Amino acid sequence: MSTTRADFDKVMVPNYAPAGFIPVRGHGSRLWDQEGREYVDFAGGIAVSAVGHTHPAVVAALKEQSDKLWHVANVMTNEPAIRLAQKLVEHTFAERVFFANSGAEANEAALKLARKYATDHFPNNNTQKCAGCSVNGCLCATDKNEIIAFDNSFHGRTLFTVTVGGQPKYTQGFGPLPQAICHLPYNDIAAAEATISDKTCAVIVEPVQGEGGVTPAKRAFLQRLRELCDQYHALLIFDEVQSGAGRTGALFAYMKYGVTPDILSSAKGLGGGFPVGAMLTTEKIAASFGVGAHGSTYGGNPLACAVAGAVLDIISSPTTLQGVEERHQLFVSALNQLNDKHGIFKEVRGDGLLIGCALAPAFEGRGKDLVKACELEGLLLLIAGPSVMRLAPSLLITPADITEGMARFDRALVKFVVATI
Ligand SMILES: *Cc1c(COP(=O)(O)O)cnc(C)c1O
Repeated sequence: MSTTRADFDKVMVPNYAPAGFIPVRGHGSRLWDQEGREYVDFAGGIAVSAVGHTHPAVVAALKEQSDKLWHVANVMTNEPAIRLAQKLVEHTFAERVFFANSGAEANEAALKLARKYATDHFPNNNTQKCAGCSVNGCLCATDKNEIIAFDNSFHGRTLFTVTVGGQPKYTQGFGPLPQAICHLPYNDIAAAEATISDKTCAVIVEPVQGEGGVTPAKRAFLQRLRELCDQYHALLIFDEVQSGAGRTGALFAYMKYGVTPDILSSAKGLGGGFPVGAMLTTEKIAASFGVGAHGSTYGGNPLACAVAGAVLDIISSPTTLQGVEERHQLFVSALNQLNDKHGIFKEVRGDGLLIGCALAPAFEGRGKDLVKACELEGLLLLIAGPSVMRLAPSLLITPADITEGMARFDRALVKFVVATI
């Protein structure tokens, strides 16, 4: 039976609008569709395919584990999960790891843990009902339950994470929403100083806003958030689902900023294409997730952890991380050259291999059209909002693939600019 793009509309919930072709095979930074057409991949599955498609070492890890053990549930532990946690602890500030299956789930765990930690450490002596609870004098009652997040942020699509995210269009129609969540302008130190208080249990921030337009945080902003969290005994959560896993040239972006969070969420590139998420934290904070407090059927799945272990070995190597900076330079100089020729961008920004190109006023709102124009030339890239082109390729993309992709981008721009003007 043939499977076509048209079938998608007949059998799938219409929440996505996928491209007109169906990819069937990938290797490195190239993809092939059903018709055998080949594409250079600057999209990386939205910052997921961190070591490219079908990396031999990762395929080997998957095959090896798939012959041994797929699943045991968390009534037992397993070797790949412990090994992956050991590696994450060894390479980061973290002392404890919780595994999930996605970025949203890693953030959901982080936010729940922050609420629980506040309840454990800052309980009310109250005899009244707390906002989230139906019983009087409940043990979970704390006034310290406010979560501070930032405009334009993205933290996932569960009801909690989407409410914490700073894009109202994603919560419209889904109420009633979780409570005590407050949004401030990103990179605005004064707003943070004016709002963070003893009521705050957590501040959650992306060190580089990905979906929101590829906007890096200012170092002073993250430093000040750290100080304010310390002052008011709030937990600082870094959502590194997109900025982590080597994407900025550091294993996690917090290392580059020199600002250490209390909780960090990771996913996307961590599994290199296999669904896995992780929440990293300290021993003291982790203690608030006692037995039974939280869980996931698949979190810590042996297959996922074996794959992520192989991916982590590659992305944590100095060669890979140094290579990110070299590739960043290649991308940025090529993009600037295209811009000199076509005048299409007003800014090229980002960090490492998370690069955003804000469209010039004449092309504003046309991001999707430009993605389509690139597809026709055999190039895959992304948008981050209607007016920012986003590149999040494999950390291992070869200079030759970068050159070829840029040649295709150039051809696409020639047609796109003519069609626009
Ligand atoms: C993609 C993303 C998420 C959500 O991850 P899912 O795996 O889609 O649930 C959360 N936070 C950030 C910063 C992301 O980029």
